[in-house]
Amino acid sequence: MHDVYSNLFVQENFFGHGSINRLPELLDKQREDDSHPAVLIVDPFFENMGLFDQMALNANDYIVYARIQEKEPTTDYIDMVMSDIRAAIGDNMPCAIVGIGGGSAMDISKAVSNLFTNGGKAQDYQGWDLVREKGVFKIGVPTISGTGAEVTRTCVMTSPTKKLGMNSRHSVFDFAILDPALTLSAPVDQRFYTGMDTYIHCVESLQGRLMNPFAEAFAKQSLNLCREVFLGEFDHDKMMVASYLGGISVATTMVGIIHPISAGLSKVLGYRHGIANCIVFNVVPEYYEEVEEFHHILDHNNITLPKITATDDEIERMVEETHNHNKPLWNALGDDWQNILNRDVLFEIYKRMM
Ligand code: ZN
Repeated sequence: MHDVYSNLFVQENFFGHGSINRLPELLDKQREDDSHPAVLIVDPFFENMGLFDQMALNANDYIVYARIQEKEPTTDYIDMVMSDIRAAIGDNMPCAIVGIGGGSAMDISKAVSNLFTNGGKAQDYQGWDLVREKGVFKIGVPTISGTGAEVTRTCVMTSPTKKLGMNSRHSVFDFAILDPALTLSAPVDQRFYTGMDTYIHCVESLQGRLMNPFAEAFAKQSLNLCREVFLGEFDHDKMMVASYLGGISVATTMVGIIHPISAGLSKVLGYRHGIANCIVFNVVPEYYEEVEEFHHILDHNNITLPKITATDDEIERMVEETHNHNKPLWNALGDDWQNILNRDVLFEIYKRMM
């Protein structure tokens, strides 16, 4: 018997330097009339960069700068952004929600788009397929390459009780604007760690049980581009395409053991996603042969990974967090994953990072 794979990812994009300038044209197509403003949720990094100075936005279009205090958007923060937008635009339904930034601004915009049509609070939708109605037309504009958030249905958010995203078919953008010029000003180390997120998405998905020829084609080409970028000279255009293709691969399959172990580092020690993945990837050569290549990549880019410090109690909590991610662990290791990656094995893996 053959498996049937369900492949869901963003369907349409603009690609190229300056493509952000075609945003007004895209928004005008969505407006029935001027009473429906567009809402732009933007990384505060761009606040005084004049990004919108030359852009013909409507007078009632509303720009929110997403100043998140935590490493990842919280459900409370998303609810606050919602009430801020409602206060600004009144009872009018927005014609589009645009997320411009790294993972967080894009994730917040996915959630806000769905909340406008579904009502309720962000935490009502933490989990899989809880969103009933299609959201407001949403546009993703990445300003750093690697997360794949511009392509996938992943919508990261955390609440005091659970770290679970708004994972839904309605959390996929309707349109992506891929403008490499927007990524030029990202700090070099952040650009490295976020870019490596894509490399790791590909390595994990390629080795997983859900791999299939469709996803494989995207993963392999994405990896080729990552190698050109990280073992040759950094190229913003290629990195942006790599993120997109790697995003399709991971959106149609699943990650492996690196993301679950990395989630422990983020949750307990507060490391950001990209750097946490690299810290994990560095120490698991028995699970992924590409770790050797990763060491060349680190050398080539003059990157020294930080050592972690953690108490035994903190490691216990990281192990617990890792084990919560049963689906990717199954994808990597099969039905016996709990034995293969048991508490003692994980404990020792975390110790290697010190
Ligand atoms: Zn990732």
